[in-house]
Amino acid sequence: MAYRVTLIPGDGIGPEVVEATRRVLEATGVAFQWDLARAGAEVMEKYGTPLPDSVLESIRKNRVALKGPVTTPVGTGFRSVNVALRKGLDLYACVRPCKTYPGVPSFYKDVDIVVIRENTEDLYAGIEFAQGTPEAAKLIKLIEEKGNAVRADSGISLKVISETGSRRIVRFAFEYARAYQRKKITAISKANILKFSDGLFLEVAREVAGEYPDIEFEERLVDNMTMQLVRNPQQFDVIVAPNLYGDILSDLCAGLVGGLGVAPGANVGDEIAVFEPTHGSAPKYAGQNKVNPMAMMLSGVMMLRHLGETGAADRLERAVAAVIAEGKQVTYDMKRDNTQAAGTSEVAEAVMEKLGG
Ligand code: NAD
Repeated sequence: MAYRVTLIPGDGIGPEVVEATRRVLEATGVAFQWDLARAGAEVMEKYGTPLPDSVLESIRKNRVALKGPVTTPVGTGFRSVNVALRKGLDLYACVRPCKTYPGVPSFYKDVDIVVIRENTEDLYAGIEFAQGTPEAAKLIKLIEEKGNAVRADSGISLKVISETGSRRIVRFAFEYARAYQRKKITAISKANILKFSDGLFLEVAREVAGEYPDIEFEERLVDNMTMQLVRNPQQFDVIVAPNLYGDILSDLCAGLVGGLGVAPGANVGDEIAVFEPTHGSAPKYAGQNKVNPMAMMLSGVMMLRHLGETGAADRLERAVAAVIAEGKQVTYDMKRDNTQAAGTSEVAEAVMEKLGG
């Protein structure tokens, strides 16, 4: 049986890294039927939108998608395709594994962390009031009536965290830990200062932790967490965080393990999962066969695991790791010596050779 998967090449470097990934996924021997769905700059003119409805329909039908990065056009009035996808499909969990493969350009060894970030609320809910508007003035008045001083020339962005949103992301993290044999969850907040938003998240996290006695639970304040991650990242396993802290910590963790070229990810909801790397469309490198396809390939590894193809996932991950360890057929960002860097398609061929061997 072939898995039916929506394939979104995206734009910029997207088509190149997606093609490299499609090739190595097929080389694992798992059968796929790809539903090609175009989004981003390349379809703007034809459809008048970077995200035609047909893309969402295809993902809803197949429930699994492999997606290349998509440019967010600046100043066109279009919302980010990525944000629209996550909202439209209620992909509330962003999952970013950060693992050091021997040979990656990093000061660290033996890091193996999964950051699980809430994707739909917090300061990213988009509830903002511009400085000087009647809405901001109304809010400022309300705040002053509560006895707090706010400058009249303030702009306001609201941090909104719900019990429902917190419960589902923390549950997701514990279920993930169980499914992938992880031992410990660290919940992140600034609950000592933000009592009603982060405080609620933490309270719910403690409660949910009680339902999973088989998994260790600990809490960290976000400022302390950044320091601990830099000093001793090996102590962490799965991190669960509200949107903003999750955004920052997942980039920090990607930095610990070698950067954007090897940072995979997924956006997941109750029914649907979209696998995509952390990096963007890097337009300046588009069409040059230059960038690293490994973040996209490792997102493909995550997709194989999600589909239950554990053997193929392990083999593909080992093949990517072997190419990194050899350090020959790797792109510019992974080079440890002065020999010439390989191109995107050469990396795919090197990984396929390892798979075949
Ligand atoms: P970016 O990740 O595209 O690129 C930043 C830099 O990182 C690049 O210039 C390059 O030096 C390096 N880089 C990125 N990917 C690499 C790879 N695979 N191999 C080697 N080096 C790599 O970030 P940006 O320049 O801030 O964003 C460009 C566009 O991408 C923007 O329009 C942004 O909105 C979009 N974006 C999309 C997604 C997504 O589709 N999920 C995510 C982030 C950014």
